[in-house]
Amino acid sequence: MATVSFDKTRKAFGAHEVLKGITLDVADGEFMILVGPSGCGKSTLLRMLAGLEQSTGGDIRIDGRSVIGVSPKDRDIAMVFQTYALYPHMSVADNMGFSLRLAKAPKSVADGKIRAAADMLDLTQLLDRYPRQLSGGQRQRVAMGRAIVRDPKVFLFDEPLSNLDAKLRVQMRAEIKALHQRLRTTSIYVTHDQVEAMTMADRIVVMNGGRVEQVGSPLDLYDNPANLFVAGFIGSPA
Ligand code: ADP
Ligand code: MG
Repeated sequence: MATVSFDKTRKAFGAHEVLKGITLDVADGEFMILVGPSGCGKSTLLRMLAGLEQSTGGDIRIDGRSVIGVSPKDRDIAMVFQTYALYPHMSVADNMGFSLRLAKAPKSVADGKIRAAADMLDLTQLLDRYPRQLSGGQRQRVAMGRAIVRDPKVFLFDEPLSNLDAKLRVQMRAEIKALHQRLRTTSIYVTHDQVEAMTMADRIVVMNGGRVEQVGSPLDLYDNPANLFVAGFIGSPA
């Protein structure tokens, strides 16, 4: 269970203001998708929620409590990147259990979580393999498994499917949605793929130049785009 609130959140790198006051509420269990042109600040926003970048203004809250100054490991957030973030020299099981080992979880507990996640992701037969011995889709499932074993309050996805071919992307969209339906973990998902956004999101956030242009359901944005930028981005008739 988790809600996420950005409250006039700002980020500057030196004189370059990248996020110009983001206010956004993500509901418990929601699948929120962030879209917007390259460089508009999507990854920076995720990294700030994860605690990997410090904000330079405003507040960020998880379940109503400010996380400013809270270390990344105490935020209960798991991030899923593109598949190449797997450790090539580690087996599937070791890749999935890596964060649990870092957190010094007892081996029996870690093994149980790895087995449960593998079962959920259809990876049980592959636990002893190495990333190079897996297909692209299997690697992506391992990357998700690595996030699931931590039982986080929030999943962050940063363009997780952008390395995959078109057919696999379609399949993985369905798998990620099915997983979300099962776990109901609050999720924020960045993509530059409009189809992905329209088909997967509960709500979509359209960002541009460090600001939120509009937030709404896929249908809202399609039917009632707030401005030409949103219309152009969503592909609705202007
Ligand atoms: P997006 O994910 O939407 O493509 P980013 O959040 O990665 O955008 O980047 C937003 C802006 O912030 C870009 O102009 C980028 O160059 C800049 N930026 C990101 N990280 C840093 C950093 N560590 N130092 C300086 N500038 C950065
Ligand atoms: Mg990015």
